[in-house]
Amino acid sequence: MNHRSIYLDHAATTAIDPRVREAMAPYLDRYFGNPSSVHRFGREARAAVEKAREILAEVISALPEEIVFTSSGTEANNLAITGFLEAQGGSPGHVITSAIEHPSVLNVCRYWSETRRDVIASCISVEQSGLVSPAVIEAAVSTRTRLISIMHCNNETGMIQPIEEIVEIARAHRCNVHSDAVQSFLKLPLNVRTMGLDLCTLSAHKIYGPKGIGALYVKRETPLQALLHGGPQEQWRRAGTENVAAIVGFAHAVQLGVEERENRLAHLQELENKFLETLQQLGCKYELNGLPENRVPGIMNLSFQEVLGADLLIALDLEGIVVSTGSACSSGVVEASYVINAMYQDGERAKRSIRVSFGKDNTLEEARRAAETLHRIVHTTQTHQ
Ligand SMILES: *Cc1c(COP(=O)(O)O)cnc(C)c1O
Repeated sequence: MNHRSIYLDHAATTAIDPRVREAMAPYLDRYFGNPSSVHRFGREARAAVEKAREILAEVISALPEEIVFTSSGTEANNLAITGFLEAQGGSPGHVITSAIEHPSVLNVCRYWSETRRDVIASCISVEQSGLVSPAVIEAAVSTRTRLISIMHCNNETGMIQPIEEIVEIARAHRCNVHSDAVQSFLKLPLNVRTMGLDLCTLSAHKIYGPKGIGALYVKRETPLQALLHGGPQEQWRRAGTENVAAIVGFAHAVQLGVEERENRLAHLQELENKFLETLQQLGCKYELNGLPENRVPGIMNLSFQEVLGADLLIALDLEGIVVSTGSACSSGVVEASYVINAMYQDGERAKRSIRVSFGKDNTLEEARRAAETLHRIVHTTQTHQ
């Protein structure tokens, strides 16, 4: 990374922790066996995969056999929704999701409802706070509802969703619950048992692990049809030779994250405070998209009067400060955030929004410098309108 740049886009991805890279290295060459092989090379690799599975399972209070390793959080979300619906047999029925889900949930639901007459997907609206309302879910549930998929915390605003209440509604109507916990993982407690989740998505590269590895928690006896057919890997739920090094790295990133959780959370809070205090001291006016409470530390979404988020992103980038406009831009075209738009029903506010997401290795000095630069750019733009 350019040593002069300040990376504030950790909700998009994080740099791998050097300790994670070190833990992975032997599994790229020395222990290169195929975990399905019966000989000693295979057994070494198998042992590493199963150890990693135990680590992950224990952290979320699941059983090892309830963890399916996938190629990404995206694949885990696809497997959760499509795999669950396919396993319903003749009539998959009704799915409820929200307007602020990650595209790997939204577009799967959209695909199903557009291509299958027997599937209806309800994409419910959210409140201005960025919270999904349990009452709105309750109103959307019908006797045909099979699955409710609501994320644990949103990747653009950090807003924490009322999963426990949603699970209660689901239980009363005998439907299952999936939650995308990619952004909340290691920030919020995640006990799949006490939370009552049936399916839960995780990804490594948002927690200082490698890219290209995710996991799906599948509660025992939850019906699930594989998306990839082939060998018996992952108990027939995901064929293909396991990405052993990435799986080892994922588990190591999880272990470090658990050990360092309190320190990391406290540090993220300090970074956020320093950043906002600096903006306030400089008299920079901003709107926080979402609420100050019910938010995980480290992810902030801000709008500034008369300044487009896309312009701000580019001007900051020229000064070495890296933020995002929330939704990743496709084909280089930066579009207004659909999440912010869903909250405020205000396309202009959505176009003016940026996401600042801190990580464990940012310094307070970086937070202060980023806020100062941001203020300078916003102020210059506003006075030259
Ligand atoms: C990043 C992210 C994903 C996708 O995970 P990948 O491993 O990048 O495919 C899914 N959901 C949320 C909330 C995310 O932030």
